[in-house]
Amino acid sequence: MRAAMYPLSFNIAAFIFNIALCVLVTANGTEDKHSNHTFRNFTYIILVGNIITCCDQAFGRDPVVMIPNVPRLALYVLSFLFNSLLTYFFTLYAETFFEETKTRRFFSTFNRFLMAAIIVMAVVCFIIKLPHIGPDRPSYYLPDIPGYILAYYSELYFLLYAMIVFFVGRKDLNRRARITAFSAFAVTIGVIVFEIFNTTGILFNYFGPILSLYIFYIGVETPDYKNLLATMDKLEEARKRADEANRSKSEFLANMSHEIRTPINAVIGMNEMIIREAGDEKIIEYAHNIESAGRSLLSIINDILDLSKIEAGKMKINEAPYKFSSLLNDAVVMISVKAKEKNLTFDVNVDETLPDGLYGDELRVRQILVNVLNNAVKYTEKGKINLSVNYDRKDTECILIIKVSDTGIGIRREDIPKLFEKFDRVDLNKNKAVEGTGLGLAIVKRLLSMMQGTIEVESEYGVGSTFFLRIPQQIRSNEPIGDYRTKYRKATSGGYRELFHAPDARILVVDDTLINLTVVRALLKKTGISIETATSAAEAIIKAKEKHYDTILLDNRMPGMDGAEALPIIRSQKDGMNLNTPIICLTADAVSGARERYLSEGFTDYLTKPIESTALERMLIKYLPSDKVTKNGQNNT
Ligand code: ADP
Repeated sequence: MRAAMYPLSFNIAAFIFNIALCVLVTANGTEDKHSNHTFRNFTYIILVGNIITCCDQAFGRDPVVMIPNVPRLALYVLSFLFNSLLTYFFTLYAETFFEETKTRRFFSTFNRFLMAAIIVMAVVCFIIKLPHIGPDRPSYYLPDIPGYILAYYSELYFLLYAMIVFFVGRKDLNRRARITAFSAFAVTIGVIVFEIFNTTGILFNYFGPILSLYIFYIGVETPDYKNLLATMDKLEEARKRADEANRSKSEFLANMSHEIRTPINAVIGMNEMIIREAGDEKIIEYAHNIESAGRSLLSIINDILDLSKIEAGKMKINEAPYKFSSLLNDAVVMISVKAKEKNLTFDVNVDETLPDGLYGDELRVRQILVNVLNNAVKYTEKGKINLSVNYDRKDTECILIIKVSDTGIGIRREDIPKLFEKFDRVDLNKNKAVEGTGLGLAIVKRLLSMMQGTIEVESEYGVGSTFFLRIPQQIRSNEPIGDYRTKYRKATSGGYRELFHAPDARILVVDDTLINLTVVRALLKKTGISIETATSAAEAIIKAKEKHYDTILLDNRMPGMDGAEALPIIRSQKDGMNLNTPIICLTADAVSGARERYLSEGFTDYLTKPIESTALERMLIKYLPSDKVTKNGQNNT
């Protein structure tokens, strides 16, 4: 028996690939997308066409293989018909990629009619040819005009049309889809052209379309890949939105910080004057209440700013030598006042051999300690708070081991992991009356991890809690801290006392808010320093040209010209009297990066509002000429 008339190897290969593709599209399922559905139907149609063509070429056209005439002719006609159908599907598939236009609607309808006409022609062809074929006259010997029209020209038209659709809409496609579509078309058309001019007897038939379907499948139709691309697009979009939101958040924080700190500055500053000058006990008590409310408002703002700094990666650990006794003193003084108000006992036990001279970020260590102690007071109604400080020494390093325990409300075991999440407050039923934002421990935890420190909690619900802190610090001097209480007592006795006197020094304070000028004047009253003021940058520039000042405190944000603009003018004035005068930026802007920005703009130093009396005095001691300053006692470090 002779082999089939046409070599079938490509058809069989196409068939195998086709089956594999059908399995893939079926297994992967389709998204709810038009193109996906059309593509799946496309692969099924091609499979049917492929089977028919294989059968036609294997049996239908071989005179030796005897099969009845009717199925033989049917195979013949169907194989041509499916050729057209598959290229028609190319047009449908191409159309799924783009929005419908008027012209395209016209062509779509035309294509539909053409496809219907082709089906009619196939039936006509079948009927016409039927009487003419016999076992000795196989179908392909018959005059074949309708078959040719069906087979080649309609195919070419459909493919060309699909290609034009892709070409016209190419701008709407991403690069990957564009390359995929045009390579797939190149393959299909290349194969058809090859077959038209082919003299070798090799027929690729379905191999071309299958190849191009694979290209489409991998290039644009793989659902996972499409999902991934869509997800990546969404992620990119979300990232942009998050960046935008973050920028707005920072701007909002900067503004809020400024807007809130400025009035608090006035409230706390003026209130401090009441405390210093009022004789009436009752009024002093009221003023203390104002102070504590003002400070707690300020601490909330500071917490929000700190957290935003940490999250923006802008929080830095600024290490410098410091005395642990002074840090401890500040914390203990602050907490004992609060403990006393609630009738709580506050015990402090410090290992007397603990080295006093340490090196680390004093401000942050104090903030951590105060935060944990504050919580102990806040969440305890009766009983006592205990602070114990020990250390582990290793050469020039020590780890501060701090234990803060209370006899307060305690924390449920399941709530412990939530303590360090920002904005998470636990056991709200019991804590409703306790003020808090849920930021404190989140900041403590983050600050500690920046210092390679740790925090752990042990708690019994209803009985009390103990927080264990480990903070690595460098040792700078071996002098032991000694009897901590002596220093503590010394520090707590007596009220405000100015740190220095400087009646010969003269400073210029520039601020557009009059009350702020009054606050600075009042805060420095006892130092005897002579103070001049200006309410605008322009006024400051004139004054700075006429008179020499030992230091200038310059508000940054002012209407018209701001401080940063006035600064270079003062520094470079012709015949100016303050070309080298220290100029300290006075600002309510305390958000991340503000300090660096002001220093880089040329300010000598930076002081945030609300102005703290001691911070202001310390700053002036640092920058006033030493021969004009007489320091008071030992407090002025
Ligand atoms: P808050 O501003 O609410 O005090 P924190 O972050 O400092 O925020 O604390 C988070 C939560 O942990 C608090 O709301 C409180 O429920 C719980 N907590 C913290 N310290 C203690 C403590 N010493 N005793 C009991 N609960 C505490």
